Amino acid sequence: QSKQGSRGAPCFFDPEMNHRLREKRSLEIDLRQAVERGEFRLAFQPQYSLEQQRVSGAEALLRWTRPGHGNMPPDQFIPLAEETGLIAPIGAWVLEEACRCAVAWPGELGIAVNVSPAQFRQGGLEEAVEAALARSGLAASRLELEITEGVLMHDTEETLDMLQRLRRRGVRIAVDDFGTGYSSLGYLQKFPFDKVKIDRSFIQRLGQDASAGAIVRAVVGMSHALGVRANAEGVELREQAELLCAEGCEEVQGYLFGRPMPAAEFLRLVDTTTVAEAVGAA
Ligand code: C2E
Ligand code: MG
Ligand code: MG
Ligand code: MG
Repeated sequence: QSKQGSRGAPCFFDPEMNHRLREKRSLEIDLRQAVERGEFRLAFQPQYSLEQQRVSGAEALLRWTRPGHGNMPPDQFIPLAEETGLIAPIGAWVLEEACRCAVAWPGELGIAVNVSPAQFRQGGLEEAVEAALARSGLAASRLELEITEGVLMHDTEETLDMLQRLRRRGVRIAVDDFGTGYSSLGYLQKFPFDKVKIDRSFIQRLGQDASAGAIVRAVVGMSHALGVRANAEGVELREQAELLCAEGCEEVQGYLFGRPMPAAEFLRLVDTTTVAEAVGAA
């Protein structure tokens, strides 16, 4: 709230806002530097196929140790990266690094990469995907792009064309955080996709809250009716995994099966674990 100035005009000096603006400016400077200096790295969270009882792939998650601030979660810098356009070079790096890592894994493992709505809007996404595949030599069929409902809300014609081209190229599309966006089931008819990722907020209430169970059952049922796979995010408890398995959810992901980890650690896990062991150990 602005105070009244001496001549009755609003006075916009607000120490709190001034502080936030300076923080934002400093974050932008650091982000720019992080891009130039290559300060990012990726963590890989295992995805388990309940059908096949094995690790089916990993989701790549962006990590940044901000000089002088420690580890910064992506939720705290991706919005500014989107606002400033830095998401384009960051997103291109993520795609390339994720593909470069995944090409060294057993051939049946997939790699999922998050793509923000801003990357769709800014353009260059297809080129970045193409470059990442070409440079790494990864088969397109092993790459999955995770998009949120937000992507589907904007630029529908262009987005639709782009998603179709990517899928024709062999890349798979997953709808991330399903159920949290401006959910309109209408777009599910229009947009081509291969997987629905049920948001963590529903999974966390599984077993405690009957409505969460009903929603999960409905989403899994809908996915199957549409001929796509269902993934449940944020599975932390064995009971949740068992319920999801009973509902016919194909794939699970969450701390129960593994936290996001460095690529080398992920590879060790693939070599040594089966779903039964991971569930049993919890
Ligand atoms: P997301 O794509 O929905 O990723 C899942 C988030 O849930 C990750 O947080 C992951 O660490 C966390 N998670 C996984 N399993 C569990 C669990 O069992 N319990 C709990 N409490 N959390 C779990 P993270 O890594 O902090 O990423 C947050 C969000 O930032 C991501 O949500 C995604 O939207 C965005 N993000 C991450 N990496 C990238 C990236 O490379 N590009 C873009 N555009 N966005 C990214
Ligand atoms: Mg994701
Ligand atoms: Mg998600
Ligand atoms: Mg998210």
